[in-house]
Amino acid sequence: MNDFTKVKAVEFPRNIVAGHDVLGNVREMCEGIHTSRVGTVITGETTMKAAGRDVLSYLDGYDMDVVTLGEATVENASVAVDRIKEHGSSFVLAIGGGSKIDLAKVVCNELKLPFISIPTSAAHDGIASNRASLKSASGSRSVASASPIGVIADTQVIVKAPYRLLASGCADVISNLTAIMDWDFARRLRNEEFSRSASSLARYAAESIMDSCDLIKPNMEESVWITIKPIIMSGICMSIAGSSRPTSGAEHMFSHMLDLRHPGRALHGEQCGVGSIMTMYLHGGDWEAIRDALAEIGAPTDAKGLGITADDVIDAMVHAHEIRPDRFTILGDKGISADAAENVARATGVI
Ligand SMILES: [Zn+2]
Repeated sequence: MNDFTKVKAVEFPRNIVAGHDVLGNVREMCEGIHTSRVGTVITGETTMKAAGRDVLSYLDGYDMDVVTLGEATVENASVAVDRIKEHGSSFVLAIGGGSKIDLAKVVCNELKLPFISIPTSAAHDGIASNRASLKSASGSRSVASASPIGVIADTQVIVKAPYRLLASGCADVISNLTAIMDWDFARRLRNEEFSRSASSLARYAAESIMDSCDLIKPNMEESVWITIKPIIMSGICMSIAGSSRPTSGAEHMFSHMLDLRHPGRALHGEQCGVGSIMTMYLHGGDWEAIRDALAEIGAPTDAKGLGITADDVIDAMVHAHEIRPDRFTILGDKGISADAAENVARATGVI
């Protein structure tokens, strides 16, 4: 009798092109999908100007409907679904920052359509992942969604986005270092399913950014070149693991708690970076290395840099574990006390 029942499905982008002036690859990639020439572009107003018009200029003979949307909300996702059905599209191009790509992931998952991710900025590691963050009245939530079939990351386009976004993307990837420690901690204490390959790749992505942090500067296309591969790779780790575990631990809970209590103050990756300094301290690891790399890149390392107060940091650390009670981290099941949170924040110079 065979009682072995494990199954795992891994979905990757099959075609990734990154570098200078690569938007023209869109035609070959669309042809590679082997479907009709009727498609939808999900984009925003600024991102349409930044890359959308260029992309469309390569798609002569294609019938493309351009849907210009704002944030990744449940409402906008349903607008996109209606427009795609109306146009009879057989594929989607997502041209924009995180929110446009998140929308495409969600709607293409629902409609079972292939999509190509064409990022105009790289503020977090979701460019190539199979998870999307969707806003609704009850707050933001991470949902399982479709992986892009292809990624076209043009360094010439991304370097024109505000540098703060790229620095935040780097901080998000650096925070993998604590996410994988939390995961390993849960493996040792809770016998949680663990993927050594996903964990190693997540570490490698973080270390490759840390190792080159002195070369990551504003207005330098080379900086995008150095960072885009680890940022994409970090997203792929989630596909390998089948969850966001390799890239999201207690530092992400800290960030999500700040999003709930103090929305709009700082970017996702910026908050995760600061969270990672503190949770690395709790793990007894080299938190100074994280802080120094973030500082070198120009990402925030303290409460002031995030636009929040010392009390906000303490409160978010105390309540962070409530974000995902099923995800065991260094913060434990019951979280840490306000005294402990204040100690770690002070010891690491966050407050
Ligand atoms: Zn993240």
